[in-house]
Amino acid sequence: MAQSVQFYSTNHGSPRVNFGEALLQGLAPDKGLYMPEYIPTFTVEEIQAFSSKTYAEIACAVFSKFFAADIPADTLQTLCEDAYNFDIPLENVCDRKYIMRLDQGPTASFKDFAGRAMGRLMQYFLNQKGEHKLILTATSGDTGSAVAHAFYDLPTIRVAILFPKDEVTLRQRKQMTTLQKNIHVVAIDGKFDDAQAMVKEAFSDADLAHLQLTSANSINIGRLIPQAVYYFYAYSRLAKNGDASTGSATEKATFCIPSGNFGDMMGCVIAREMGLPIAKILIASNANNEFEQMLKTQTYSKIEPSIDCLSSAMNVGHPSNLARLVELYGGNMDEKGAILKQPDFAAMNRDFFALSVSDDETKQTIKNTWNTYKVMLEPHGAVGWKCVEDYIKTAQISENELIISLETAHPAKFPDAIIENIGIDPELPASLQGIEAKPEKFDTMEGNYAAFKRYLLNL
Ligand SMILES: *Cc1c(COP(=O)(O)O)cnc(C)c1O
Repeated sequence: MAQSVQFYSTNHGSPRVNFGEALLQGLAPDKGLYMPEYIPTFTVEEIQAFSSKTYAEIACAVFSKFFAADIPADTLQTLCEDAYNFDIPLENVCDRKYIMRLDQGPTASFKDFAGRAMGRLMQYFLNQKGEHKLILTATSGDTGSAVAHAFYDLPTIRVAILFPKDEVTLRQRKQMTTLQKNIHVVAIDGKFDDAQAMVKEAFSDADLAHLQLTSANSINIGRLIPQAVYYFYAYSRLAKNGDASTGSATEKATFCIPSGNFGDMMGCVIAREMGLPIAKILIASNANNEFEQMLKTQTYSKIEPSIDCLSSAMNVGHPSNLARLVELYGGNMDEKGAILKQPDFAAMNRDFFALSVSDDETKQTIKNTWNTYKVMLEPHGAVGWKCVEDYIKTAQISENELIISLETAHPAKFPDAIIENIGIDPELPASLQGIEAKPEKFDTMEGNYAAFKRYLLNL
């Protein structure tokens, strides 16, 4: 029978909804985050069969587990094929340690994976209902451009993007500001966390209800399910799958995830809950080390304001997806970051390894991986790889164990860091060529809510 998982709010004060509703709403009415009521699972045989399937086919299989009842199978298949028409290189670094490059999409960021599925799925569900939406997104760099491209020129959707004016690179900015049409971009005088707070306040403002606001940030469950797919994909291509007929053990893989708002980490946790054999999830962060501290101290404090680091898309002092993780481990965290019920910290410490990486270590890692392995990493991927190296030493991981570290953006998006550390100006992927010369348009505003509200009412 076709499946339709229901989604509840982490604040436990909103009705349950199906995927389409959760996707269109973004944040639940009680300001909580939508979580699946249960996480559907694959059998070992289904996971083994992925080794002969394309990425689009694996995506379709994962999506079907959550919302096959809500969208016709052939529509979903066409949508996945259309969304996932680019490469996912798995680059060997040494032994059985790999980099998964998630940077071949239209904005050269891993955020294209979720963005492209979300744009198409939202358009589908809005058409069904004859409605329209205004998407609000706060971005620390790459979300904005991925969202802008994912929703560009869709007839039922307008997009307003807020970014902290000093925290994105020229290329990141141009990827958002050169599209125009239904894409409205605003630079605020503030930090990413200010932008995120402004967006959150707009969602709960009754004066704006007629605008049909929704989010495409990683607070939207529609971001997380597509982000579960590439873990299955990497596993299907690299793991010794075991042999179902002889019942031999299925290999467990370890993934390392450079993290900011923890959307990508939740994707990995969802994949694990769906049955993907995962040994450990490594969470690499920059100086914003609130998660590492939380695991150590079993208490949580945000970092306010967040710390500026080279890996700028991860400058997040209070990851919004932490509430989902806490929930999954039996606890509860409200939207302000207060832990109302303790999660199972012992289980979290068993499942995760967290490391905070300094900017100096990040630079050193960019140098070392290039000089030793001829593997080019940008700052976010380098934070990840440094965490892998540290984990291999700390946990005495053998050559045979499979570790896959995510590269979340293309090195050409961070040319200064690459030139400074290895003296090479990375070649731009085709999607980014000529972008600096294109005319751009964006507005500027103070980092406060009143200004943002005026802007939205006049849009
Ligand atoms: C957004 C982003 C991250 C962090 O991803 P989360 O899912 O928010 O943890 C890491 N690297 C890059 C390049 C990003 O754009």
